[in-house]
Amino acid sequence: SAQIKPLVAGNWKMNGLKANQSEFYKMIAGISEDLADQVDAMICAPATLLATLADKAGNGAMSVGGQDCHAAVSGAHTGDISAEMLADAGARAVIVGHSERRTDHGEGDEDVNAKAQAAWRAGLIAIICVGETEAERKAGQAIDVVARQLDGSVPDGATAANTVIAYEPVWAIGTGLTPTAGDVEEMHKAMRDNLEARFASEGAAMRLLYGGSVKPGNARELMAVANVDGALVGGASLKADDFLGILDAYS
Ligand code: PEP
Repeated sequence: SAQIKPLVAGNWKMNGLKANQSEFYKMIAGISEDLADQVDAMICAPATLLATLADKAGNGAMSVGGQDCHAAVSGAHTGDISAEMLADAGARAVIVGHSERRTDHGEGDEDVNAKAQAAWRAGLIAIICVGETEAERKAGQAIDVVARQLDGSVPDGATAANTVIAYEPVWAIGTGLTPTAGDVEEMHKAMRDNLEARFASEGAAMRLLYGGSVKPGNARELMAVANVDGALVGGASLKADDFLGILDAYS
């Protein structure tokens, strides 16, 4: 969709010490004004680094996001982080429903839905992740599974401004495997139809990211697929050269 400004969001997961801040600064330095006009770039950093990185992101070439949030504003939830805390640290967005949260922490669509609403409450963009397992794809259920996740995880009130959808086939995350461009196109078209049916023009304008083993070598092909409005990038977002190589798909 030509009028949608794409987003390339990195997900550092549980990686990144103070020493790794320099990669973030290299990314900022590597994003020209021309490139920043073409694509939004973001790093979803560990909470421990958010405030520092956000302070350095001031020139607008990059923004920072969180990787998960609790649904509540505050309270007796030891170890959890609220969307308000992420916003307070300078985050602009938060990933919710990543498959590692769904698997490692047993989060279901209802939890993800509540977290997306928490993100909005705090003024953050919710980056809502969906995606089928390998077994579901082999059984021919990928489209149905993702439709069910969208229905359950995306709250009423989603707009193109407050929500980004990330399609991340679980079997493609961190494996080096990617779906064919044709499979990505089919899924993204199905997601677009689903979101347009529910959110009309907002669904038509919502950014739909592809995620799963995006690298500099495959970014151009994947980013050229219809209804792919950017990428969610794990491993290749840890190094500035790789991340900038992916952004290069938009140069
Ligand atoms: C992710 O987990 O969001 C992801 C896309 O990981 P990777 O790029 O490492 O496959």
